[in-house]
Amino acid sequence: MANNKLIVANWKMNKGLVQSQQFADEMKLYLEKHKVIEADIVLCPPFTSLDAVNKKITGTQIKLGAQNMYFETIGAYTGEISPGMLKSCGCEYVILGHSERRQYFNETNAVVNKKVLIALDEGLKPIVCIGENLQEHEDKLTESVIDEQITACLLHVSEEGIANVTIAYEPVWAIGTGKNATAHQAESVHNFLRKKIKKMYNEEVSKNIKIIYGGSVTPENAKELFTPQTINGGLIGGASLEAEKFIKIINASNIK
Ligand code: PEP
Repeated sequence: MANNKLIVANWKMNKGLVQSQQFADEMKLYLEKHKVIEADIVLCPPFTSLDAVNKKITGTQIKLGAQNMYFETIGAYTGEISPGMLKSCGCEYVILGHSERRQYFNETNAVVNKKVLIALDEGLKPIVCIGENLQEHEDKLTESVIDEQITACLLHVSEEGIANVTIAYEPVWAIGTGKNATAHQAESVHNFLRKKIKKMYNEEVSKNIKIIYGGSVTPENAKELFTPQTINGGLIGGASLEAEKFIKIINASNIK
């Protein structure tokens, strides 16, 4: 299992160009002062800031990701963004199937699967979001829900492809609510996911795949949430909007 935790900032529909650049500058300053931080850091700004943030972070350890993309490579799809366009802005990662995309834009597992396949074909690393909603959580349906999601979202993803996939377990009831899952809850779901991946692929893949947790991670709870070995990092929404908070979360991920 990889040692560095993967810490991903999802800014959602926040920050214009200037604010995005300011954030990148703050992060760069911090990294210059502290040399190597033992974490894999990814910033996912809105599309409109990708190029500008990329210019700022080139040559640093920070990587760039997008928050979504379309599942076609080119054509008459007004308003959509292709994987190639993301790559041309310097993206290495793309978040797919975020619960807000599922909730507000009707993204189904089948749509997420199309996006995962094309992202991999085009050389992007998908961060595939799955997770149960509050009702499902209360009805103790977490495992069956994520089993169905992961099966459908990874349909036809090869063993070569899965090596570039990160799974983000994001219980919907924990996103933006201030109510995080406990480390124990997240650990047990991550273990379930690894068993599932082992069945779908093999033991090697299940050990190596990065599974990160998302849902109300803060500087205060990050260390506890990142302590289980099976939790390979975090997808951070609200707390990634301020560089200082985000840096605290990155530092908390350096578990020895
Ligand atoms: C998210 O949007 O993926 C997320 C985890 O948000 P928050 O950290 O604000 O709960």
